[in-house]
Amino acid sequence: MVEPWWSDGLFFSCLGCGRCCRGEPGAIWLTRAEEKIISQYLGIAEDLFISDFCTRKWGNLSIREKINGECVFYQPSSNKCGIYEVRPLQCRLFPFWPSLLYSRKNWEKQASFCPGMNQGQYIAPDEIRKKLGLCPFQKL
Ligand code: SF4
Repeated sequence: MVEPWWSDGLFFSCLGCGRCCRGEPGAIWLTRAEEKIISQYLGIAEDLFISDFCTRKWGNLSIREKINGECVFYQPSSNKCGIYEVRPLQCRLFPFWPSLLYSRKNWEKQASFCPGMNQGQYIAPDEIRKKLGLCPFQKL
């Protein structure tokens, strides 16, 4: 079997710049369990959470973005996520997404945008495989 290009592991530590929470529009997928957890965290009914904070413009349920591309939960004054403790798995797994791990080119392209990639903590291949296995929205 051919080893993936990241078979020696990768480096990543989030620097908290918030760039991945803003910029180009994109889906922020939600599972049913996350839908419940986030609405509970916000103290609102699930249907209200869906109508006020979600969209289906990408197909499945996704967190909505503001007109400028920022996630609705992004707080510009602090660069922080307003639902950080209960943020979706998609956000927790970044940048270990199948689409970015697919090729070094994809990874490096994203790294030119995210200053946390290719520096900081060493992430071993087994840990990367574990993250890939958790990914609810894409498969490599
Ligand atoms: S762009 Fe990278 S370094 Fe900045 S907040 Fe997102 S993951 Fe962290």
